[in-house]
Order: sequence, then structure tokens, then C-alpha cells
Amino acid sequence: MFTKEELMRKAIALSIENVKNGGGPFGAVIAKDGEILSTGTNRVTHNCDPTAHAEVMAIRNACEKLGTFDLSGYEIYTSCEPCPMCLGAIYWAHLDKIYYGNTKTDAKDIGFDDSFIYDEIDLKPADRKLSSQQLLSEEAMEAFRQWEVKEDKTEY
Ligand SMILES: [Zn+2]
Repeated sequence: MFTKEELMRKAIALSIENVKNGGGPFGAVIAKDGEILSTGTNRVTHNCDPTAHAEVMAIRNACEKLGTFDLSGYEIYTSCEPCPMCLGAIYWAHLDKIYYGNTKTDAKDIGFDDSFIYDEIDLKPADRKLSSQQLLSEEAMEAFRQWEVKEDKTEY
């Protein structure tokens, strides 16, 4: 059984090791009651996958291991405060708590500007740097109508 500090040290060790292995300086651990369920490191450049952040990788590994999409009862230890994508993934996974080492400002200082995306979220879509426009909303609604009345759906 590991303490909180030991679990965070593991996430930090993964982040340092990942730099040596050619990845980004990020590592994450998912645990419950001091037992490690899964780990993840940043594999964006290695996997050619912009979503392969340490937290997302740890969530994918945890869910595959348990055969579930719900990680309620588990906690995530990440070497850096999650970016908006990972924060969203952590909410979707229903993890109970986030422990983080570096802050998003620390990440910005070395060239990983997650705070830029946090700032964008506060803006109206029309005011964001990334242009977006609603299209075919009535046709898109069909899947929602079918979902609403479907009786044998798996809710998440
Ligand atoms: Zn992230």
C-alpha cells in the first residue's frame, strides 16, 4: 500500500523517465486505497496521437484492465495539473480526486500552453481563435431523439 506522496512520486518518476524515452514530461497513476491500478505517460509524438496525454493513457489502461468505463472510487495522481481535455476525460471517467504536481502555469513556462485552452473555453464560440459554426442541427437531432426513446441503452 502506497501513501499519497509515494503515488505522486511514481507519477513524477514516470514523467522524468518519459523525457529520457523521447516523450513529453508528463506521467500519471490511477490508484485506489494505495494500490496502483494503472499508469500512463505522454505518448503524443511517439503514437502520433494528440490525445495521448498521460492522464488519458492512464484512464485508457485502467478501463481496459477493469473492463469498465466508470472509474468511480479511484483517484488520479498526475505530474502536472490536467489540461482541459484531460480534465474532461477525468470527469467522464468519474474519478474521485485529482492530485497534481506541477501547475498549468509551470507547463506554460516550458511551452505547453494549456492555459490558452482554458481561456478559450470562457469565450463565446464566435470569439474563440478556433472557428466553429452550427450546421444541420435538425438532422443531427435525429440520433438524440432515437437515444431518448431507446429502452435498452447503456447510460454513462
Ligand atoms: Zn492533457
